[in-house]
Amino acid sequence: MLIAPDLEEDPRPREFVLSNVRSARLVSVSRFRWVTTDTPGDRPALFDAVVERAVGRGAYLGLEFLVVESRSVINRVPKPGVLPFEYTINAYRGCSHACTYCFARPSHDYLGLDIAEDFDTKIVVKINAPEVVRHETAPARWAGHPIAMGTNTDPYQPAEGKYKLTRGVIEVLIERRNPFSILTKSPLVLRDLDLLREATRVTDVTVDFSVGTLDTDAWSRSEPGTAHPRKRLDAVRRLNENGVPSGVLMAPVLPGISDRPGQIEAVVKEASEAGARFIAGTYLHLRGPLKHHYFRWIEAEYPHLTRYYRHEYGRRSYASAAMRKRLGGMIRRMVDVHGGPVRQRNSRNSDRTQPDSGGQLVLPL
Ligand code: SF4
Repeated sequence: MLIAPDLEEDPRPREFVLSNVRSARLVSVSRFRWVTTDTPGDRPALFDAVVERAVGRGAYLGLEFLVVESRSVINRVPKPGVLPFEYTINAYRGCSHACTYCFARPSHDYLGLDIAEDFDTKIVVKINAPEVVRHETAPARWAGHPIAMGTNTDPYQPAEGKYKLTRGVIEVLIERRNPFSILTKSPLVLRDLDLLREATRVTDVTVDFSVGTLDTDAWSRSEPGTAHPRKRLDAVRRLNENGVPSGVLMAPVLPGISDRPGQIEAVVKEASEAGARFIAGTYLHLRGPLKHHYFRWIEAEYPHLTRYYRHEYGRRSYASAAMRKRLGGMIRRMVDVHGGPVRQRNSRNSDRTQPDSGGQLVLPL
């Protein structure tokens, strides 16, 4: 999901240092770079060991959970002030929502895993995340900064159904009365509606959904592991009805695939009908190894767009200024037609949408 990846957390974490493996079952997974601390080569190991390697069964068939203990969980973004948040929590790494455009994919490369299938199926689980967050947010050491979840992996991806780490983190943040925001593509967040309602009584909370398109064909090809976008809009409605502020980020809009006016209008209209507190969008962002990954997907799924993408993104990471301006204009016009506030949030962290030089709304996606 989400934000400009060069501004997101450093994907070479220091935090994956296992601190308590004495009682845990140590598992040999020798191909992973982070298994041993003395791996020869030019890149240092990131982990001492994996606490447990669990093969998914039933609803989790095809997934593998690499359970680790982290020394730290709250991450400070490298360039505070540039993004609309300064601190993030990502209790997982990798995401079985498997969005082809996911900018977090290269973070798996830093773990010695591949950015394609491994990112979709080998999910790193920071099993002690709630306890570490409790420690890190102790009043003596923490000033109550707002914390964003969903900036580098989806906090309600399927793994959350099994491990409930996001729920545990929210419980801690409620105890601390610490403001937080969540960005997700999963209606699983409704499982925690009780907690989220409680959170709104003690602090500032927003739960936003990423809905890039309502076009079933574009959705199923580009986000194969996600819930149908209409289920997400149903969740937006439920959250707002229950007093949990929820908006819609139309992101990323995929050039030539989901940016036709009728497609944009459908999202604006239905998000508005769902009571979204705001709606805004941004185009695809491609950089580093993700560009190659995405281009391969285009060649396979939309071969007629191959030349177009190489022209538009070959030398750039972002869509052109003209395209961004056009998208921003379309969204504004459609918001005018269908209603729905564009910049309304009930949050201390409220002013997250800012027009960029192209007139497009720039969002933390
Ligand atoms: S839901 Fe977000 S984090 Fe997960 S694969 Fe999709 S874009 Fe990436």
